[in-house]
Amino acid sequence: MSTIELKNVSKYFGTLAAVRDADLSVAAGETVCLLGPSGCGKTTTLRIVAGLEAASNGDVFIGGKRVNDLSPADRDIAMVFQFYALYPSLTVAENIAFPLYYERLSKADREARVRKAAETLDLVTVLDRLPGQVAEGEKQRAAVARAIVRDPSCFLFDEPLSRLDVELRQTMRGQIKELLTNLSKATVIVTHDQLEALTMADRIAIMRDGLIEQIASPHAIFSSPANVFVAGFIGTPQMNLIEASFAEVAEGEAEIAFGDQQFRLSVNGVAQALSKSETFTFGIRPRAFTVAAAESEHTISGTVELIEPMGAETLFHVRSGGLEVRVVVPRDIRVPPGHVIHLTCDPGQVRFFDADGRAVQ
Ligand code: ATP
Repeated sequence: MSTIELKNVSKYFGTLAAVRDADLSVAAGETVCLLGPSGCGKTTTLRIVAGLEAASNGDVFIGGKRVNDLSPADRDIAMVFQFYALYPSLTVAENIAFPLYYERLSKADREARVRKAAETLDLVTVLDRLPGQVAEGEKQRAAVARAIVRDPSCFLFDEPLSRLDVELRQTMRGQIKELLTNLSKATVIVTHDQLEALTMADRIAIMRDGLIEQIASPHAIFSSPANVFVAGFIGTPQMNLIEASFAEVAEGEAEIAFGDQQFRLSVNGVAQALSKSETFTFGIRPRAFTVAAAESEHTISGTVELIEPMGAETLFHVRSGGLEVRVVVPRDIRVPPGHVIHLTCDPGQVRFFDADGRAVQ
């Protein structure tokens, strides 16, 4: 059974809590990405699963078996590192075959396995070359081929694509995702690249300061962030997070105020959860605004200060209520800097967070 489970795992380096009370379950065939800013504890968590770091507290299970006391070699995992760790004096074929030297296989079996892994990763033509004689993408694929050649119980990837250029990264994201789908193993990928996580993960675990803040599908993380940190971390351009106050004016409709701006928004069930006139944060993604033809009680107004063309869309930086609000509009909406625009928000896409930053359901 290919599963990974962390139960209440913490790791201290002296007084620094690098990982705090982590609970994580990765099912067979599932890919979970650990995503978060630098220093949040992603790599330490992965290294604890691999056995390269001992947990200070808590339990690690692989395939349902507690592995805290097992060495990395006895955990039946394969790990792909950021720096590939290929042996420069061995050919690509010998590098891929390396994990098999510990298994009692005949030469023919070993060669057949290497060939199969090389075919899967499109490396057949470079098998006889040294790592220094192949392209960066081929080195990366050789590292992945070495990981899959032994058919381990689960896979761990540490920033696998960070050394590739943008175009190659995009190709490799798709290839690794396809490979993992076919292999059906529990996989954990560490990344600080949200696009990588959103495209490759079945679920994403967002970490901050050693804590897992939210674990959910890419869609749920994006559409229903559990708190303001996750809301601000996921999505480009970043979600607008605006401190505001709230007054209900009629059944299901609220008046929201920030700076000198006031506007009405349909809030339905959320109205009961928010205490009126208390400060809260409302989150709205830049693409959830619509430019209105005229000012009304449902619009906020602001001056377009900066315009950034983004291809099919344009990013406006709008000064409204003393704040800078990011608004993404279709490319054909053109206004000069200094122009005042009026914006409505799609109520279905507005998220509310209480004074502690937690999402209001
Ligand atoms: P990055 O994306 O920059 O690699 P990360 O999220 O993977 O960061 P970790 O490498 O897990 O973060 O580090 C978490 C914290 O633990 C950091 O503050 C780091 O400085 C600290 N740390 C990691 N390894 C050690 C160590 N061996 N000794 C002391 N502190 C460590």
